[in-house]
Amino acid sequence: MNLRPRPQWGTIPWAPTHYGRSVLGLPLEVWRPSGECHLLIHAGIHGEEPETTYALSRALRQLAEPPEHCAVVLAANPDGITRGTRGNARGVDLNRNFPSKDWRPGTVTHRSTIQDTSDVLLSTGEEPLSEPETRALLALIRDLEPRAVIALHAPLECIDDANDSALGRRLAQRTGMPLVRDVGYPTPGSFGSWGSDNGVPVVTYEFPLAATEVLMRDHVPVLVELLLNPGV
Ligand SMILES: [Zn+2]
Repeated sequence: MNLRPRPQWGTIPWAPTHYGRSVLGLPLEVWRPSGECHLLIHAGIHGEEPETTYALSRALRQLAEPPEHCAVVLAANPDGITRGTRGNARGVDLNRNFPSKDWRPGTVTHRSTIQDTSDVLLSTGEEPLSEPETRALLALIRDLEPRAVIALHAPLECIDDANDSALGRRLAQRTGMPLVRDVGYPTPGSFGSWGSDNGVPVVTYEFPLAATEVLMRDHVPVLVELLLNPGV
């Protein structure tokens, strides 16, 4: 596939389809592949990590046509992205709302900055899949049946792959970031935990803590390579 010349990188030249709506009614958009879906990449499930959304968007905009085997969700939590909150509009951390065996009710904390104590409270939801964004994402995965899913996050600077898969090893080698089996603390109800319980290979790609310009320079090319050649 040809890449578009740089002057055309301002827009995505084909339309997404909707796979649901957020709590506030924003469309949940997916850019589908032209052929069978082998890989789904999603970004922006945490609204305080917008760099994942625009890195993936910048990669997608370099393509002249839909990738053959890769589906793209630029903002899995559009309410959080537009409001600048980690959680959705109901204060639920969507990455603690998936129906993994270890899901538990109550609150979850996160750090305001990476040096801070983890003491900012969000909810895990009233029950697993209580939120329209998580329900829709799992329905999309059942529809697309990808062979693997990459979840983009920031800023822990690692490739988190419980399966130590070829895809995870490839990304670690390509980015120079460490390949880890977990992020070092429990993440009950996370998308990755749900994937482990359900035989869906999930690789969590954690951008480093870096200026936007640096992230775009270093990681957009990796994402373009994935879109063109998922390798799964
Ligand atoms: Zn995150």
